[in-house]
Parts: sequence; structure tokens; C-alpha cells
Amino acid sequence: MRLGRHMPLHSNAVKAVEIARAIGCDAIQIFASNPTGWRPTESNGASATAFARATREFDLQPVVIHAPYLINLASPGELIWEKSIGLLQWTLQRGALLGANYVVFHTGSHRGSGVDAGIARIAQAIERILPETPPEVMLLLENDVGAGNSLGHSFEQLGATLALLPHYSQRLGVCIDTAHLWGAGHDIATALSTQLVLAHIDSAIGLNRLKIIHLNDTEKALGSHRDVHARLGEGIIGEEGIRALLSDPRLAHASIILETPIKTDAHDKEDWEHDKQQIAKARSFIMNEPGEPLP
Ligand SMILES: [Zn+2]
Ligand SMILES: [Zn+2]
Repeated sequence: MRLGRHMPLHSNAVKAVEIARAIGCDAIQIFASNPTGWRPTESNGASATAFARATREFDLQPVVIHAPYLINLASPGELIWEKSIGLLQWTLQRGALLGANYVVFHTGSHRGSGVDAGIARIAQAIERILPETPPEVMLLLENDVGAGNSLGHSFEQLGATLALLPHYSQRLGVCIDTAHLWGAGHDIATALSTQLVLAHIDSAIGLNRLKIIHLNDTEKALGSHRDVHARLGEGIIGEEGIRALLSDPRLAHASIILETPIKTDAHDKEDWEHDKQQIAKARSFIMNEPGEPLP
């Protein structure tokens, strides 16, 4: 199982790759554009190529891109829906330049139109997006905490979306975030409860479709529908269930990305030494050796 973290870029993507490797990552996730903006900044092909080259050189794989949060493929409103399709398309195209294996996105909110309408809308949007984007980048639906009308908090919703797109089974998968599981009410605190959650994911989605695990703890209560990430050892999910999850042989093909808050000093400078320990802690939860590079 390969393990990395979400890295801030601070306008220097190659430096982010070097730091990721230095703190013990063998995978990486980044934003390809402002995560809370609609308009990507001017595409800089040269820096994308330099990033892709650096990830190969430092053997960081997979490369994951987290899509902007504004994207809402489930939106019943035309304007937001069209903008969302455009931005996710751009992110996949940019992902190819960055050498990405996966683009992860949040499935969005049906805004009162209903679960079935929302799921149909997501599938319709993906039908528009995938033919226009490079086949080497897979699109992953991330599970959600399920606040308001947001979709993706139940495994059945994620499974139903994939089931509407059987012809894209090679290009579509899921990313499961442990803090989102907890926020949505899926108990992963013990080895036993985690086995039940895994069985549930397997029957509704299929564990083979799970490509990325976002590893986060949280201080919010089980089923709180709150999305707040905590560092490993600083939340209430704890170790037992996470250990069971990460050492399950059925998930050996998946990769782990930490999205925990990075500790900073009084000058806002990241404490990478502290983060190195977080990576080491996460690695100690995985039973098997780091996975082989992807083909
Ligand atoms: Zn996310
Ligand atoms: Zn996440």
C-alpha cells in the first residue's frame, strides 16, 4: 500500500514533491487550481511538466488531484451544472499534464431536487466529461459527511451512480475519506465495526472500485455530518479501526493520502518534522509492504 499526503504548493510544485519524499511519502495529492475558485489561473504547461517529471524522479505514485470544492455535478441549476462540468473537465485535462493517475471530486448536493434526480444528474454530467478528457486519468467519487442535501454519504448512492455508468468502469472509481465515513455515521472505531463497514462498501460499490483512502481522524461525533479533519492521534476515531482498515488484504491495491492539518509555527511555517511522524504513524498501520509501482 502506497502512502502520501495532500501537499500545499505555495507556487512551487517541484519543491512540494521534494518535501513529500523527504517526509516519507511515496504518493502525493495536490490541488491543480484554487480549491475554492471557479476560474483556474493561467495554465502553466512548463510547471506542470516539471511537477510530473519530479514525481517520476522521486517515485511518488499515485499522483492524485483534488478537484475544487465548488463543483456540483448534482446541481439542478443549469448555470452551476455547466460551470461544474467545465471545471472538472479542465481539472482532468490539467491532471494529465501533471501526470496524475486520479482526480478526486465531491459528488455535490441535489439542492432539494431529490436523491434520484441528483444521482441522474451526476451520471449525465460524467457522460459529458469523460469523452472529452484523457483516458489515463481516472475520476474518483469521494464519500461525503452528508450535510444538508449533499450526496455520497451512503454507499448505495455512490454505487447507484457508478451503476448508471457501467461502460466507464475502467475510468471511474471511489475515494473513501475516513473522517467523512465517521461524519456520515459509519462506525470505523473498532476492528469489528470496520469489518461491517467494509462488507457494506463491498456489497454496494465493490472494494475493487476503491482506489484512494483519505486518512484523517476527527474530533466531531459519529454521525455529526461535520467535516473537520484532525491529525492521527488527535481525534476520536483512534487507531483500532483504522489499523483494521489499512491492513485489510482486500484493499492492498488502494493508496492512502493523509489530509490532516499540517502543524505550523508562529510564522506560519510548516513543521515538516512533525508531519514526518504522522506519515510514519500511518505507515505503522499498514501491515503489508509498500505496493509495487502502478503499471
Ligand atoms: Zn475531498
Ligand atoms: Zn478527503
